[in-house]
Amino acid sequence: MDNPALHTLNNVFGYSAFRDHQQRIIQQLIEGHDAVVLMPTGGGKSLCYQIPSIIRPGTGVIISPLIALMQNQVAALQQLGVRAAFLNSTQDAATSQHIEQQLQRGELDLLYVAPERLMTSRFLGLLDRARIALFAIDEAHCVSQWGHDFRPDYIELSVLHQRYPQVPRIALTATADGPTRQEILQRLALQDAELFVLGFDRPNICYRIGQNHQHAREALLRFIQADHPGDAGIVYCLSRNKVDQTAEWLCKQGLTALPYHAGLSTQVREQNQNRFLNEDGIIIVATIAFGMGIDKPDVRFVAHLNLPKSIEAYYQETGRAGRDGLPADAWMLYGLQDVIMLKQMMADSEADAAHKRVEHHKLESMLGFAELTGCRRQALLAYFDDHLDQACGNCDNCLTPVKTWDATVVAQKALSCVHRTEQRFGVNYLIDVLLKHETPRILDNRHHQLSVYGIGAELDATQWRSVFRQLIAQGFLSVDIQGHGNLCLTERCRPLLRGEQTLWLRHETRPVVKARDRKTRSAGKTTTNALWEALRACRKQLATELGLPPYVIFHDATLMEMVEQLPRTRAHFAQLNGVGKTKLEKYADVFLDVLKQHAITT
Ligand code: ADP
Ligand code: ZN
Repeated sequence: MDNPALHTLNNVFGYSAFRDHQQRIIQQLIEGHDAVVLMPTGGGKSLCYQIPSIIRPGTGVIISPLIALMQNQVAALQQLGVRAAFLNSTQDAATSQHIEQQLQRGELDLLYVAPERLMTSRFLGLLDRARIALFAIDEAHCVSQWGHDFRPDYIELSVLHQRYPQVPRIALTATADGPTRQEILQRLALQDAELFVLGFDRPNICYRIGQNHQHAREALLRFIQADHPGDAGIVYCLSRNKVDQTAEWLCKQGLTALPYHAGLSTQVREQNQNRFLNEDGIIIVATIAFGMGIDKPDVRFVAHLNLPKSIEAYYQETGRAGRDGLPADAWMLYGLQDVIMLKQMMADSEADAAHKRVEHHKLESMLGFAELTGCRRQALLAYFDDHLDQACGNCDNCLTPVKTWDATVVAQKALSCVHRTEQRFGVNYLIDVLLKHETPRILDNRHHQLSVYGIGAELDATQWRSVFRQLIAQGFLSVDIQGHGNLCLTERCRPLLRGEQTLWLRHETRPVVKARDRKTRSAGKTTTNALWEALRACRKQLATELGLPPYVIFHDATLMEMVEQLPRTRAHFAQLNGVGKTKLEKYADVFLDVLKQHAITT
């Protein structure tokens, strides 16, 4: 075969074709050149360095800050018959010594190391004596001092270029805006590398956002029961308290939901994370502390019960769903209370004024995104300077177009109320004034004597709350930066108050909409449910015996192909995506047995 990369893809990984760009990136490295790769989560970054590491003489050295991810990737590679190992702080001396010897003897295709280990003079000395196929710098955005994942060790990685100028390097990341991209090029001395930018779209994720209400938990439960029975998922909450309560409540409803936050002991956190990785259908309820370095491909939904603090955070958190490319959901409920709580957290933080301004701005963009009436995917991509020509058809606003109404007069009333009460009050108070609620506070402040007192009878409190939220989202009002929750007028109000602008707002009747029908899922879930479950059980048993996560044996996508194609022979089984030579040898017979049993009993 004259294309060794394709040959390796077919025979080792069991995949039939490269995805866009993978081939070009791999070629670049095989020929000894550098590459910088920006690819969304699930885009298939790992193959870009794994295949050249296998093909080029010597060992590919993969620098990764995420220990759990490292271990998973090595386990997965070993399942494919690839000679891979990792070195990190979790190992004993004898094990790492053995691996170091393997490196020197040229017995490894890939070696994963943590950056702090790599930069020791001892390890560099070891590399001097080994043959190196390439360096891959994973999670390359960790080099950015402005980012939230900054790792000081990453800055030192430019040493690699000085010390081993002829070894090709590849830097990869899923999160890099313009400035971060520049930092990666400069700090890692990759200015001459070829840049591969693949856009940010995650087409298999369906985005749905709705308003928070008193029955948010019940809504979450209905969503899980209807769209994701037995699936693995992550539920994000803002506070530890809410994490604990939500996990407990979901368990009472018969689901397996485990909490994860910084207040739990390391041991409990590790235990819960491991169950999530190694068992099917576990739900993790977590603060944002959870997720970094989670490489689980079959997370089917990410739910938010609070607003994330920025669009970047939303993208990163929702991005943990559907890495395997199968349909997945990003589902969120949020309320104005979240905005106020986040603003308070920002006000209380130690950051300097410039930093805080940026954070406020990011939060407002997030709110604007949540209140959007157009295609969410288009807006999300536009935020990252990416572009989508047509509305996506796979977000709530595309699936159920939003109805809008002329809210000009109502908005004028709301803004006047803010003005007359001197911009010193929060939403609830303002609504009380508009609705003529004679509260002691209003009487104290003599606000029952204002012209705006009781001028809002045409809407109820819930509707007013929606109006205020949308006015904030559209930048007519801002929540006070000191974190007191009082609303202030912005410059943008003027034309609206003067009657020079009409304003359309969205109707609030809609709960989170239902996802469209999913052929692929239902193929595995209803019509041939029994076979699907039998295959999953078989995979689970093998995984337990080997002490590995189930998806390391086969991904859901491969099991689904078995359900669809019902292979009866080894030759047919070898054609399935995800079945390479080694896995054919190891697992074909076991799974063919399950398929045969099914054929007999149905
Ligand atoms: P990333 O690191 O970019 O998030 P991964 O490298 O983990 O993505 O790949 C995501 C998923 O896509 C994995 O399940 C991987 O096996 C699969 N994949 C990657 N490339 C291909 C391909 N050419 N054909 C089929 N599946 C692929
Ligand atoms: Zn859309």
